[in-house]
Amino acid sequence: MNREAHIHCPLCRWEPKADSRWVCAPGEPGSGCRTVWNTFWTAGCCPGCGHFWSMTACLSCQQSSPHEAWYHFPPPVANVEEAEAKEETGVV
Ligand SMILES: [Zn+2]
Ligand SMILES: [Zn+2]
Repeated sequence: MNREAHIHCPLCRWEPKADSRWVCAPGEPGSGCRTVWNTFWTAGCCPGCGHFWSMTACLSCQQSSPHEAWYHFPPPVANVEEAEAKEETGVV
């Protein structure tokens, strides 16, 4: 059972890599300590100053999206079972 979210840019579908890095820039009130880290390791929280980033910039298309919008959860299991059931009745 794998319910882990798939992470990619909601605009261009770019996937953050393990070596992708974001800088804590003064783009939001209370931010700007210049810490460099992977923002998906901390769910958007800067480890340097503790600022929680509501927006996450894409390193590919350069557009900012809400951090939550980067997480794409797989469809509910119920839908998969329903689709399989329809396939079986179709054979009969
Ligand atoms: Zn993008
Ligand atoms: Zn910071």
